[in-house]
Amino acid sequence: MSRECGDCTLCCKVLGIEAEGFASAQGEWCVHCDKAGGGCRIYDTRPEECDLFSCLWLQQPELPEELKPSRCRVVIGWYDDMFYLYVDPGRRDAWQRAPVKDWIQAATSQGAPVAVSINGKVVWANDSARRIVAARGAGQG
Ligand code: SF4
Ligand code: SF4
Repeated sequence: MSRECGDCTLCCKVLGIEAEGFASAQGEWCVHCDKAGGGCRIYDTRPEECDLFSCLWLQQPELPEELKPSRCRVVIGWYDDMFYLYVDPGRRDAWQRAPVKDWIQAATSQGAPVAVSINGKVVWANDSARRIVAARGAGQG
């Protein structure tokens, strides 16, 4: 059974938008979001980047309900060949607590690259993610 966002709108705060005319910084609510749980007020005309995004919790029904972003305050996304965890700046330690901490440990033990971002700044990355970033840096030299 597929999942639905329901009352969750956290990606509209933590991801930020770059689309022209919509720009908002990571960690700041998009002005078009009904934070009371009503969702996007411009749903039919929302930018393509919003339309295309779906978080890991939405994609993988086997993930526990506790990892729903509106509950754990972290949105897990796949970007640039690694998992990015976008943390609600209102709960900066959410990634260091269960259930997110458990997910990070499991993903890391399986060798998956994981980086944690708050307000657009990476605050932690595991060895796999650091190797990817280092390899990219070397490739640019
Ligand atoms: S964070 Fe995930 S569940 Fe929440 S609104 Fe965005 S896509 Fe939906
Ligand atoms: S335009 Fe709509 S879907 Fe996109 S971030 Fe804003 S509220 Fe969310």
